[in-house]
Amino acid sequence: MCLTDKELTQNPSHFDESDEIVTHRDMGWEEYRELIRGMRFFDPHIHMVSRTTDDYEAMRDAGIVALIEPAFWVGQPRTGLSTFKDYYSSLVGWERFRSSQFGIKHYCTIGLNSREANNEPLADQVMEILPLYAYKEGVVGIGEIGFDDQTAAEEKYYRLQLELAKKANLPVQIHTPHRDKKKGTERSMAIALEHGLDPSWVIVDHNNEETVKSVLDQGFWAAFTIYPFTKMGNERMVKVVEHYGPNQIMINSAADWGISDPLAIPKTAALMKMRGIDDETIRRVTYQNAIDAFAKSGQIDVSDFENGLNVDQSEKFNGNTILRGGQQPRVAKDSLVIR
Ligand SMILES: [Zn+2]
Repeated sequence: MCLTDKELTQNPSHFDESDEIVTHRDMGWEEYRELIRGMRFFDPHIHMVSRTTDDYEAMRDAGIVALIEPAFWVGQPRTGLSTFKDYYSSLVGWERFRSSQFGIKHYCTIGLNSREANNEPLADQVMEILPLYAYKEGVVGIGEIGFDDQTAAEEKYYRLQLELAKKANLPVQIHTPHRDKKKGTERSMAIALEHGLDPSWVIVDHNNEETVKSVLDQGFWAAFTIYPFTKMGNERMVKVVEHYGPNQIMINSAADWGISDPLAIPKTAALMKMRGIDDETIRRVTYQNAIDAFAKSGQIDVSDFENGLNVDQSEKFNGNTILRGGQQPRVAKDSLVIR
C-alpha cells in the first residue's frame, strides 16, 4: 500500500481524512493548566506501549489517574500468532505494571483490530486465543473492533467478537472507520443491535459532528478522539459538548505511535473551563462517563485510583523494574546536568 505524506505522519487507523485543518491560536498549555488543578481524568483510549516515560509523568502531573489501552494495529501487519500473544500479554502484564509505576491505573480492552481482520488465516487463529485474554483481570471490554475498509472479512470478525463480548459479559469498544465514516458508524451500530447487544454496553469511538446525533439517539456511548491538526480538534469538541451536554459522551486521546497528544483530555478540560462549561459537565465527559460505561465489565473499582495510586518503586514485574541500578523514577528535566 502506498502512503501519502499525511498518512506517514499520522496513525492510519486513527487519522481523519478531512481536508479541513483547524488553525489553533497559540495558547501555551502551561498558562492554562492552573484551570484544571485538582481535577481527575480518565482516558478511555490510549496506546501506552507506544508512549514514553515522559508521557506517563506528564499525564500523571496533569491529573490522569486511570486509562484504558485498547488492543490495536501496531503500525505494520503482524506476521504470526505469537506476536499477537506477546502483544496481548504485554497489555495485561508489563504495560500495566509500567503504568502503575507512574501512579496511573491501567485497564485494557482485548480484540482483533479491523485492519488485521483482513488476513483471514491469521485472524482465525487470533479468534481462538482471544478468550484466553478476554477473561483476565483488568480487561474491561472487547476492543477496539469494527470496520476499517468495511470489507466482508472485517464484518465477519466484528460479528464473531460481538458474540465473544456477549459471552464474556464485557462492553464493546468500536473503532469507526475514517473513510466513509457515517456509513461505517451506522453499519457498526446496526450489526451490534442485530446481535442483541444493549447499546448502553457499546462505546462507539472516533465520532464527529456528523455521527454523534444518531449514536446518542440510539442509546450508544459516543466517544470522541481529540486529534491534533484535524477536524476534531478540542475547539470543535467544546462545541459538541455545548450542543449535546454531557450525557453518553466521553473524550479520549487515542494517543499512539503517530502524531497525537497524551494530554488531550486535560487540555480539552481546560479549554471547556475557559469557555464557561460547568465543572460537573467537564467531570462527566472527561472522567465519570468512561467509568460508568466500562465498569459494566465488573473490573473497575474506583477506590483503586480516585485518591491516587501508591507508587512503590521497589516493585518488580517478573523480576524486572523500570529503574536501572539505583535510579529514581523521576528525571529532573529542568536540569542541564543529567545525573
Ligand atoms: Zn486506538
